[in-house]
Amino acid sequence: MARKLLRGTVDLHGNPLSVLWEEDRILALGPEIPETEADEVLEVEGTVFPGFIDPHVHLRTPGQEHKETLETGARAAAHGGFTTVVTMPNTDPPLDRPELLRGLYEEARQLPVDVRFAACLSVGRKGRAIPEMPLLAEAGAVAFTDDGSWLEDAHVAYQAYAMAAALNRPVLSHPEDPRWHRGGVAHQGERALKLGLPGIPRESEELAVVRDLALARLTGVRLHLQHISAHTSLPHIRRAVAEGLPVTAEVTPHHLLFTDEALETFDPRFKVNPPIREEADRDALRKLLPETWTVMGTDHAPHTVFEKEFDWLEAPFGLSWLDLAFSALYTHLVRPGLVDLATLVEAMTLRPARLLGLGDRGVLKEGKRADLVVVDLAATWQPTPRNTFSRGKNNPLMGEMLFGVVRLTVAAGEVAYRG
Ligand SMILES: [Zn+2]
Repeated sequence: MARKLLRGTVDLHGNPLSVLWEEDRILALGPEIPETEADEVLEVEGTVFPGFIDPHVHLRTPGQEHKETLETGARAAAHGGFTTVVTMPNTDPPLDRPELLRGLYEEARQLPVDVRFAACLSVGRKGRAIPEMPLLAEAGAVAFTDDGSWLEDAHVAYQAYAMAAALNRPVLSHPEDPRWHRGGVAHQGERALKLGLPGIPRESEELAVVRDLALARLTGVRLHLQHISAHTSLPHIRRAVAEGLPVTAEVTPHHLLFTDEALETFDPRFKVNPPIREEADRDALRKLLPETWTVMGTDHAPHTVFEKEFDWLEAPFGLSWLDLAFSALYTHLVRPGLVDLATLVEAMTLRPARLLGLGDRGVLKEGKRADLVVVDLAATWQPTPRNTFSRGKNNPLMGEMLFGVVRLTVAAGEVAYRG
């Protein structure tokens, strides 16, 4: 059995840290592990972290492979240091039947990182009836979600959340009550008003969060509130956490990094749902990161260059993140001292692992899965359409100089990416 040794690396405090693994399990960690212990030595300079875990990506398969495939998405993930990603079921057809999931898992076996699938909360994502959730769980659904829309009917939602609780799977909810707006494309605030853009108010999220928390209380489900964007949602979530409900809140890179000031650029690469909001929202989300119930999810949403060249009203929602999320967050939050490195890494590793019930990963420890990433934090790179692997090039940070270059990604003991 092949034993591999990673050397030359340091931990996040800068102390030397080598990692030895056999097959897909970590055997030992320490400042100095002799080369004689291993059949193969990987000499890499940089900081070693547990492989990143993203509970929220769109790999567009089946049905929209011109935007992303499992293969391009998995390569982008490996390039960005992610070793586990969970893809959303708002595909064409939607993932509401077990045979669809089984087919996708068959395809995913060849991929360089672990791609897991979430299944629909309602049949066809139409919100009228629940699918065969026990069979979907058996076919590998790691979570249930109608992401892209909210399960509006409280009675159907009650049934779905109760079933998810019985199956011990989390519900990933896209909390947005659509009755609060008509075709909104931006945060409903002064900037959208000035530009004449139809708005999406904070209340559309806040009231959906309140309903979802009530259902979590009723059903006991593990509730993950996706892409929280409004500071007004936070007191409700805090109260629920204090009550002891198993609730987590997702923060995305774009809601942490940008504000609706970007509307002035008319650059549709900033168009996303829920919308990037005001400074007060961004700053409140940044302060949330040290809370252990906050989980980073990128909401990686690749689109073609062609689609993102439409004007603001017509362009589709979403940003492409897998290749550059860590570098962007490290550059703009950690380096200026707004968030500490250990906190960012925990939000991208241990916390999503817990949310998804993946106890074998999210931390570098003997016996855990050999999922790791080595990042040269002092080195810079410039993401471009050519050096990124996702088919989606829709990110406004393309072309910007970012700190943090991924040198090596190892997933289940195998090299998934080497720079
Ligand atoms: Zn969503």
